[in-house]
Amino acid sequence: MGKVKKTIKSIKIVADKCNGCRACELVCSAFHAKPRYSSSNPARSRIRIVREPLRDIYLPVYAGEYTASECTGRDRYIIDGKEYSECDFCRASCPSRNLFKEPDSGLPLKCDMCEDEPAREKPLCVEWCINDALLYEEREEEVDEAVVAPGDIEIGVESLIDKFGLQQVLDTIARASKR
Ligand code: SF4
Ligand code: SF4
Repeated sequence: MGKVKKTIKSIKIVADKCNGCRACELVCSAFHAKPRYSSSNPARSRIRIVREPLRDIYLPVYAGEYTASECTGRDRYIIDGKEYSECDFCRASCPSRNLFKEPDSGLPLKCDMCEDEPAREKPLCVEWCINDALLYEEREEEVDEAVVAPGDIEIGVESLIDKFGLQQVLDTIARASKR
């Protein structure tokens, strides 16, 4: 398999600088609304803040991969005197919590780095974070030619198959296509 150069985009989180304002959640959900910017609902955001003001905890977390089954991670972490659960750091859309799921359909959400045409210079959550808690970075990496990240539709269909089974999904698509 051949190798190709790929630009890897990532966002570094400086949790100490986050004050829990949730501007990142608002702009992300508005950008992904259909039509674009027609509504804003943090429950639809692909970045969420673990926010516990009484314990001074503000931790931004990006939506990552969808997973069909929950893990066994139940560890607790104490960092700078603040206690976190293992789940607080997890980026997965998983069955054991409602995070990173589209609230109406339950379909998984994943950060797409604000893909747009033409491409944006920086993701919107980074632009809107006036506290510099989110820092955008790009680097070049050699990857296998055939590796293509799954898009929203592929991830959604995979989660439907996990939930209802392949045959039921196929029957529903067949019925819907005749309408
Ligand atoms: S916009 Fe920045 S400071 Fe505000 S909640 Fe998001 S990461 Fe934290
Ligand atoms: S990079 Fe874009 S898609 Fe990802 S969390 Fe930020 S605003 Fe949302």
